[in-house]
Amino acid sequence: MERDYKDIVAELKRAFPKDTVKFRSDNHRPYIPNQVYTDRVESATESRWNLEIKELEINVPHRYVKSIVQVQIDVHFRDGYGFAVIPGDPLTEPSNINTAVDKAVNEAFLTALDSYQMGWRDLAPYKMKDWAGNPALKHLLEQATPGEQAVVSQHHMRTSRQCLVCGRALTEDEWDLLGQVPNLNRDKMTYCFEHLPNHLKRKIDKVTLQQFEKKNTAE
Ligand SMILES: [Zn+2]
Repeated sequence: MERDYKDIVAELKRAFPKDTVKFRSDNHRPYIPNQVYTDRVESATESRWNLEIKELEINVPHRYVKSIVQVQIDVHFRDGYGFAVIPGDPLTEPSNINTAVDKAVNEAFLTALDSYQMGWRDLAPYKMKDWAGNPALKHLLEQATPGEQAVVSQHHMRTSRQCLVCGRALTEDEWDLLGQVPNLNRDKMTYCFEHLPNHLKRKIDKVTLQQFEKKNTAE
């Protein structure tokens, strides 16, 4: 029997497995790879979905590409828009146009899926300062759909601080722990626990360190 639309949408919103969120190498911002979204749409709809490019504007003189795509599931559809700058000189490097088209279409696909709140639960811990800290969206952090573990517990809550080494957002606990290193400017020397250099780790009060490790390895 085919799934009805309501169940499909619930499935789209469901949290992804742990470690689905990746970080961009250039700006360390969290994201979920496109393939992950596509895979979820495929499985949730049992391949009964459609993606249509409604509009594609390639403006070579002004070096941009704009696209509007439509994701259709059942009889329902959602639009998404995307925009990309064509880098360099498109006349001498025409392949840059293709790259920009791909980028604009991908972005449009993601904005369409974003309207289903796909990936929101996964990205929320990294977007506390952005949108997820809004009281109206608190449910994303607290509630988990039935059969699923609570997504984020308090001390796993992410901060907007990122590790200098791996770019991962620090948990509240990691941020607090950095504050326990004597004479450390944690705004500049920001490390996740894994990448906190040993000579700094040793400066932390033993009991505090043990408490941190106990709390953060128990689960
Ligand atoms: Zn790190």
